[in-house]
Amino acid sequence: MAFTSTFTSLALAGATLAAGTAAAFADGEVNLYSSRHYDTDERLYSDFTDATGITINRIEGKADELIARMQAEGANSPADVLLTVDTSRLTRAKDSGVLQSIDSDVLEQRIPANLQDDDNQWFGFSQRARIIFYDKADVQDPPMDYLSLADPEYKGMVCHRSSSNTYSQTLLASVIENHGEEAARAWAQGMVDNFARDPQGGDTDQLRALISGECEISIANSYYFARALRTDVTGLSEEIDRIGWIFPAQEAEGAHMNLSGGGVAANAPNRENAVAFLEYLSSDQAQQYFSNGNDEFPTVEGVPLSETVAKLGEFKADDVNLSSVAENLPAAQRIFNDVGWK
Ligand code: FE
Repeated sequence: MAFTSTFTSLALAGATLAAGTAAAFADGEVNLYSSRHYDTDERLYSDFTDATGITINRIEGKADELIARMQAEGANSPADVLLTVDTSRLTRAKDSGVLQSIDSDVLEQRIPANLQDDDNQWFGFSQRARIIFYDKADVQDPPMDYLSLADPEYKGMVCHRSSSNTYSQTLLASVIENHGEEAARAWAQGMVDNFARDPQGGDTDQLRALISGECEISIANSYYFARALRTDVTGLSEEIDRIGWIFPAQEAEGAHMNLSGGGVAANAPNRENAVAFLEYLSSDQAQQYFSNGNDEFPTVEGVPLSETVAKLGEFKADDVNLSSVAENLPAAQRIFNDVGWK
């Protein structure tokens, strides 16, 4: 799929859902367990409440803690919806039994098939591209795909997050899916050989390290870079013009996409409201917030991108099936351990 800033009018049910459900669910509530930690999500929630009368009770926490809490609460869990980031966590939630399959024509039609769970236990609502960033002054021939990052010519130049981070895990799992386990193992080993420093820090830290000169090449999710373009991120925004970016593997599988999504809790006391909330997240209105508010890519096709996100340019996204990628997570963990990727 290609991301463009072209607006396409979509007349599916999701776009008009907010008005249509107001009467049916008035005075209801939905208990949302969320590990999304973005202030701009406020608007997502308040607009839903304004349109439907359904109050959102939000409990925030780290994804694994929320999943553990839902397991501990069992049949008495008040959770209606779990929202989280990354395919690995969505899969962990499913495997932990805290989600349930739902039937929703709206979600079925609006969310691309490769961005929803095969059993309809989770759906992706926004994406971020995992992009290669580099210091334009120091790198004349930047790697054009993930595998090339492991080339010996980049020895001592590459920075990345630790293997305990879910972005790292899902990226390696996708390399396994696209190139096979043997190539993925060689790649991970080459990455470790090329590291400028021990894996550490968050995505913004990988970008800052390009400015500070600790590394020449790094990988980060697109929204951290877009945020630094749009707002003032210390140690990054001031000299951001020094950083170039590559959407990887444009001649091959395309850029790896990190997914944020959610599903209905296994024991949801307000199941219908939960489904209505997820359907709302797929509406044009909500989809635009993901881009305008948090610099993400909408998963629903045809929804316009914010000005900042559109600046990153058009690219080809890897549309590999994320349920299949998730099956490679145990193999990815073994490889990380074997090659000593901290
Ligand atoms: Fe993030």
